[in-house]
Amino acid sequence: MTSEILHAKLKENFGFEKFRPNQETIINTILSGQDTLAIMPTGGGKSICFQLPALVLPGITIVISPLIALMKDQVDSLKTNGIHACYINSSQSSEEQQFYIDNLKSNKFKLVYIAPESLSYLDVVFNELTISLIAIDEAHCISSWGHDFRPAYTNLGYLKSRFPSTPVLALTATADKATRTDITKQLKLKNPKTFVASFDRKNLSLEVRPALDRVKQIIDFVEKKPNESGIIYCLSRKTTEELAEKLQKTGIKAKAYHAGLDNKLRAKTQDEFINDDCQVVCATIAFGMGIDKSNVRWVIHYNLPKNIEGYYQEIGRAGRDGLPAETVLFESYADVIQLQKFASEGLNSDVQLAKLERMKQYADALSCRRKILLSYFGELVKENCGNCDICKKPPTFFDGTILAQKALSAITRLEQSEPLAVIVDFLRGSRNAYIYEKNYQSLKTYGIGIDTSWYDWNQYLIQLINLGYLEIAFHQHNKILLTPFAKKVLFEGEKVKLTTVVKKVIDKTEIKETKTKAAKSSLFEILRKLRYEIAKDEEVPAYVIFSDAALRQMETLRPMSDEEFLAIDGVGKAKLEKYGQEFIDAIVYYEKVKQEKAKSKPKKEGNTYKTTLALFKDGNSIEEIAGQRNLGQTTIVSHLAKLYVDGEDLDLSQFVSDAEVKQLHKAQVELEYPTALKPYYDHFEEKLSYDKIRFGLAFLERHKNDDEKLKIKAYSVDEKRLENPEAYKKWSPEEDSDLVHNFYQGKKVKEIALLLGRNEGAINSRLKKLELKK
Ligand SMILES: [Zn+2]
Repeated sequence: MTSEILHAKLKENFGFEKFRPNQETIINTILSGQDTLAIMPTGGGKSICFQLPALVLPGITIVISPLIALMKDQVDSLKTNGIHACYINSSQSSEEQQFYIDNLKSNKFKLVYIAPESLSYLDVVFNELTISLIAIDEAHCISSWGHDFRPAYTNLGYLKSRFPSTPVLALTATADKATRTDITKQLKLKNPKTFVASFDRKNLSLEVRPALDRVKQIIDFVEKKPNESGIIYCLSRKTTEELAEKLQKTGIKAKAYHAGLDNKLRAKTQDEFINDDCQVVCATIAFGMGIDKSNVRWVIHYNLPKNIEGYYQEIGRAGRDGLPAETVLFESYADVIQLQKFASEGLNSDVQLAKLERMKQYADALSCRRKILLSYFGELVKENCGNCDICKKPPTFFDGTILAQKALSAITRLEQSEPLAVIVDFLRGSRNAYIYEKNYQSLKTYGIGIDTSWYDWNQYLIQLINLGYLEIAFHQHNKILLTPFAKKVLFEGEKVKLTTVVKKVIDKTEIKETKTKAAKSSLFEILRKLRYEIAKDEEVPAYVIFSDAALRQMETLRPMSDEEFLAIDGVGKAKLEKYGQEFIDAIVYYEKVKQEKAKSKPKKEGNTYKTTLALFKDGNSIEEIAGQRNLGQTTIVSHLAKLYVDGEDLDLSQFVSDAEVKQLHKAQVELEYPTALKPYYDHFEEKLSYDKIRFGLAFLERHKNDDEKLKIKAYSVDEKRLENPEAYKKWSPEEDSDLVHNFYQGKKVKEIALLLGRNEGAINSRLKKLELKK
């Protein structure tokens, strides 16, 4: 069949102008009657490969799929495109099933979806049907090697014997060779042509963050995306519930999902998520297999996944519509320890440990993450991706030899008998009970690293572990051991390169601005609401009507006639007829209102930061700029601070003095680099204004790598006590590390409370705050 005809069919029935990679060749192979094995990643456009041939071929296409929950959505999706399709599975009554079978006999449907277990229903009528194509989705379920093994799949080989001249298309997103051979053999495929599509999902951004203050980081993240659906994967059922509850408390529509909840509740949560009624699902890995929601805009891993296969499958649930989607993975030292324990105690422990190690290497990577992922799946890429955190902000290395020497000698002095937290305490000269109990304060090198913060020491030690100078003895209370390489640094002058520890500082005004922006009635939001209403009426998920990508295109192209509307990707003949008018009306109305507004109001121009900058450079004060722009003074301050961080030439000395910057720098170390302004405000007992704090932090942020001039000697604990006795009513870093240490030692809350002279409630809530306890 000519390429023009195929393209015309693609546009008319599915609304797309172009095929995705491999689709057209796969379709041509099928149409030539050859068996085909297609390996495509989730979201790579598998279904078009059999749906389009189904329309061209004379008879019926049978689609075998294990995902009963998905069948309805897939069939609904075809129906909105005007294609006659049905499904037969155990969720229907026998009358319903009979109805569809009868209609199949009279050639009313082009496609029928069926679960392998239900194939026997069709068996009796096979002779009366013209079967043109057999598509077997999720074909890896045939392999007992795979994780989704379905016994009924192993019987599917009889289809080829029974219909020797009908082409069979096997589809899967699992690439490994053993499974591929299994599929070909068991399905009795005849010299199948094999296609392996690239596993690269360029639209997914990749990011790994340290797990410190995870919940807060997540809340900030979600608040920036008020209308965007996302999934948060957690390791335990309990975490899913607790996290969902914490998010709900801040007003986020979040729900928990795990295999332990009752079926009805689970199905309800899933439906609400699919229909955009619930924004966030906090789930164990049980979630996602049975859904095909194309507008999941982000995926967060609250815990480190066990292996890269799982991780890639889970992040793959974001951005199936091809629009940009974000993924964030939180890496925590505690997770690694726990997973290592699980892996070493479970079946097949060598393999599981090796897989976990690869996962950890990915999380600790200092080079393009996508390259690492793709190479794991056997794909080699030359170029860096430009869409991972490492590409966007390459790590800066510095000579960390002295830091490494300090750490390694401290570990030597401690006779390699302590876990990470104690080493950090020792390096920082903490005066906690454990240190005194062991008389560590009398050892040489005690307090040698006092001028580096607790957080930074943690990160540096983890880097030293990753670089191979240290190792964790997982079965001996996680104590840290020196490896033979450590000697080279201590005695042979080997240099150590470490990377600068970066912490994300989140700007609250930015969140507010995004919030108001999204809440404002942008055309996208209006179209999204319209889509939601129609979806409710038709009882189908919203993305079945139009994808987010299609709505975005409508927003950009503003189609106002049938012809223009048909040019949108995803709009075929049927969708134009069904929904075109309503969407065109909405766009026309929006344009009209906009023009009227423009007439009555002088136009705001350019980027808001630029406007502030121009006014400031003209000599206006913050107050004057705020007045002229009708914005809050805080907003103007945050604009100027951001401009300064981004490299604009501004004189900050008029807003914050040298001495104040020095105080802030000291506070930053003591407070372990908090992500918000409030802790500083409290720290200075409300004596330093928020504006000064904001400007001071902007200064420190821009100069963080050349801080020699600013370098401030850390004060000893006692001096700090004298200086600011009030501050010690709060939790000090020393007390925190004491707490962490005792907790890791396995002491009970009651004991810790006695040791620290606080009540149990305070201990519990602090443990929760530090995310050590749920
Ligand atoms: Zn990259």
